[in-house]
Amino acid sequence: MAYFEDLTLYTYEQNPVWGDEITQAYPEALNIGWLDQEQPFPTSTEPPDPLLLRRLLAHTAHPVRLMLGFHQCHLCPHAPEDGARLRIRIGDRELFLDNGEVLVVGREGQAFRAPIMLYHYITVHYYRPPEIFWEALRESVPSAGEQVEAAAHPQRLAWAERLLQSVG
Ligand SMILES: [Zn+2]
Repeated sequence: MAYFEDLTLYTYEQNPVWGDEITQAYPEALNIGWLDQEQPFPTSTEPPDPLLLRRLLAHTAHPVRLMLGFHQCHLCPHAPEDGARLRIRIGDRELFLDNGEVLVVGREGQAFRAPIMLYHYITVHYYRPPEIFWEALRESVPSAGEQVEAAAHPQRLAWAERLLQSVG
C-alpha cells in the first residue's frame, strides 16, 4: 500500500478502468492514516472516544473505491500464514479491513480519505489521526461516499459485493 503523510492532498492514482468519482466529488480531500512501517507516525495509548470509534466502524461498513485484491497490514509483525483476511466481527456481521477506503466528510465539506485499515491502525497499532479528522468524523455521514459512487456506477457496488462474498 502507498505511504502518504497525514493532511497532505490526496493524489493516490486513479483507477484506470473506472476513474475515481470520489476524487471528482471531493478534489480537495486530505490523506489520513496511509501508514508505512518505515515512516514514524503519531501514536497514543490513550483510548479514543468510543463514540467516534463506533462512527469510524460505521464508515468502515461503507467502504469506497473497492479494488481487486486485498491488503495485509505491514505493521503487524507476522502476516497470517493461512492468508486470512484482516477482519473484525461486529455482532453477527464481519467487516473486512483490507479492501477500499474510508471517506469522511465533515460539516464544512472538508473530506478525508483513509485506507479501510484505519480502525485496525488506531485500535491495534495505537495510531492517532490529527484532531481535525476526529472533528470531521463527528459530523460525517457514513454512506456519503457510497452515494457518490452509486450515482456514477450503479452496477459497480453490486459487482463489488459479489466479489467480497465470493472470497469472504
Ligand atoms: Zn496490523
